[in-house]
Amino acid sequence: MTARVDKKPVSTSLDDVKLYIDGEFVDAQSGESFDNRNPFTNRVINRVTEGRKEDIEAAVEAANTAFEHGPWGKMKVSERLTYIRRIADLIDQNAEEIACLESLDTGLPISQTKKQAARAAQNFRFYAEMVSSRMVGEAYQVDDHFLNYTIHKPLGVAGLITPWNAPFMLETWKAAPALATGNTVVMKPAEFSPLTVNKLAQIIDEAGLPKGVFNVVHGFGETAGASLVTHPNVKLISFTGETVTGSEIMKNGADTLKRVSMELGGKSPIIVFDDADFDRALDACVWGIFSFNGERCTANSRLFVHEAIHEKFVDALKERIAHIVIGDPMDEKTEVGPLIHQEHCEKVKSYLKIARDEGAEVISGRVPERFSGGNFVPPTLLLNVKNDMRVAQEEIFGPVLGVMTFKDEDEVIQLANDIKYGLAGYVWTKDIRRAHRVAQAVDSGMLWINSQNTRDLRIPFGGSKYSGIGREGGHYAFEFYTETQVIHVALGDHPIPQFGKSDR
Ligand code: NAD
Repeated sequence: MTARVDKKPVSTSLDDVKLYIDGEFVDAQSGESFDNRNPFTNRVINRVTEGRKEDIEAAVEAANTAFEHGPWGKMKVSERLTYIRRIADLIDQNAEEIACLESLDTGLPISQTKKQAARAAQNFRFYAEMVSSRMVGEAYQVDDHFLNYTIHKPLGVAGLITPWNAPFMLETWKAAPALATGNTVVMKPAEFSPLTVNKLAQIIDEAGLPKGVFNVVHGFGETAGASLVTHPNVKLISFTGETVTGSEIMKNGADTLKRVSMELGGKSPIIVFDDADFDRALDACVWGIFSFNGERCTANSRLFVHEAIHEKFVDALKERIAHIVIGDPMDEKTEVGPLIHQEHCEKVKSYLKIARDEGAEVISGRVPERFSGGNFVPPTLLLNVKNDMRVAQEEIFGPVLGVMTFKDEDEVIQLANDIKYGLAGYVWTKDIRRAHRVAQAVDSGMLWINSQNTRDLRIPFGGSKYSGIGREGGHYAFEFYTETQVIHVALGDHPIPQFGKSDR
């Protein structure tokens, strides 16, 4: 079906969303489906096939058969990587459509989804290059008698469970290393963002991967997701989502001893000292909380600004939020679009009430009346925030920035760390010694000095405390998706202990 995406003529497939199992797009065995809505209008885009336990079982069986008996796991690495590069090329060729589908489905502004589509192709290209040189690991000449070497083997069926906030990008940064290392995949995408993962399935199909190597089961967490986690033939779970869901997955995966990677929630501090480059810190702060509609795990949602520049910085922030372009996610000029769904929108709005009840001042931009059909929350500042308030401690996951002030370095480190999360952090100062001191003292998996969130694909990504376990990216993902085996080779007739040869 060819459809128009809102007012822009875009040729794209918007048929009802099926499961992709064993190389075929299929209905759920139960025949059930659910609505998929456009966050900008709340109108139904299409229906999504609702996979459940029996569909997960079919997908795992397909993936397991493809791994055990198909060519994928045993294929020459160089041949397998040709497929991975082909996927990257096809993503590039379809980038425009992927970005449109993503914006339609999630409300993320098109200027941002275009960049994510390009990054998704890079994820595949990056792992094609990295894996080519790493499947054979290290060799050790132990002594004259022994040579040891390591090899890295795929584990089997990888279960990948993803959220809705940057779906295509996050799905590809799991699928790329999982497939490049020779695993087969069953993916359970978020129920609120089903469109682009089916485009990925189409691309993988077109790239010619053997049947069963990549499978997608749409559906809900408690049914489809939980069945994937408990399935004995699924060797690992790579999960990105809320902390509470991650904890549930770890419990449910314990009986089958799942290897897990957890990328979870965040409430990251941005610390601005009085000697910081004011304009650059302001730009980074605004972008870091309001890009991706504020639905970003690494968002700098807690601003600590030094008391000497607090007033000036807040005035500048007020000016900015009044001018942020709120609107149609398909419009190139839009900076902040609608939130993913009505319930999430209500949850984010409820925090504005909580903030007022807790004694904070709430200052919001304005959503134009003509966008009243969408799930909009205007860019918002919370002033007079204290670090023990709920709005300072809980992940709001929307365009809401809590502002606090501090006197000195010791105080701000204590405040920044006084929270259960530890995903990211940002420090702005021109004092190089203080920058490093504070950066190292903040308990977070990632910390940027004088920068917004940027990341080279070789660099690890992940959090500490309640923000995650393990790291994705670079060789960290490579290690996660492979088993290391040591081969001990005897080079000659070394001595062997002589048991059972004595006279008594
Ligand atoms: P979520 O935890 O509600 O859902 C994520 C996925 O888990 C979905 O596919 C869902 O269906 C599935 N799921 C839910 N319950 C499950 C269960 N019991 N067993 C198995 N699967 C289950 O998260 P969300 O609302 O989709 O995403 C937003 C969250 O993701 C935020 O907390 C955000 O910070 C986090 N996030 C973290 C990172 C990171 O890298 N640290 C990146 C992006 C998003």
